Amino acid sequence: MALNVIMLGPPGAGKGTQAERFAQTHGVPKISTGEILREGIQQGLALALKAKEKMDRGELVDDETMIGIVRERLSRPDAALGFVLDGFPRTVSQGRALDAIMEDRASGPLIVVDITVPQEELVRRLSTRRICSTCGANADPTDSAAATCGQCGGPLVTRTDDNDRVVLERLRVYAENTKPLVDYYCSRPTFRTVNGAQPPDRVAEELEATIIDAARVGAGLPLAQR
Ligand code: AMP
Repeated sequence: MALNVIMLGPPGAGKGTQAERFAQTHGVPKISTGEILREGIQQGLALALKAKEKMDRGELVDDETMIGIVRERLSRPDAALGFVLDGFPRTVSQGRALDAIMEDRASGPLIVVDITVPQEELVRRLSTRRICSTCGANADPTDSAAATCGQCGGPLVTRTDDNDRVVLERLRVYAENTKPLVDYYCSRPTFRTVNGAQPPDRVAEELEATIIDAARVGAGLPLAQR
């Protein structure tokens, strides 16, 4: 059963953390377009450096660039049996492009999970969030005194786009460009919503149950066999 998962939801909803956990549990790659861009910037890649200005302002990088990055990444062998996409699609046109990619792959339906969190909680989370400058992992939000990454020991830093002004712009950009994707997907039988305003372990449990259920529905199994 292929697990082709997209995590939708505003910045700060916990998509990255949850996508990582789910992907590790199921042995499929987590593909985060924001992380790919940040790695590209660190490596000095021209495409990513061009995107940096937009990222620093909280704006979206153009669809063509992002679709190209994802098409290439999904064509690699490790994504053949599934993937968890975090941060893509972010516009309806990226969603359409992904549908076309999925048709070519013929590897089962997309499972779309929308993680919802109230805006005040998102602002609070984003303004205190830190990531590891070495491996890119999110720091434990309950341990504000930690200076190093719990996974690799690298130094923790604030993302350049997590300052107050940019956070509000990213939430505005989300409402304008990415929220319409919920309408684009919500009538599909493999669309699910999960409440992200709960402790991370609880969100992970709900996601696990809901994604497996959606995958079975998607694979066309009758109810009695679930
Ligand atoms: P994220 O780590 O997902 O919050 O992404 C950080 C930034 O990278 C975003 O604010 C955008 O500037 C850019 N970005 C990441 N993914 C996409 C995408 N699918 N489409 C457009 N821009 C993106």
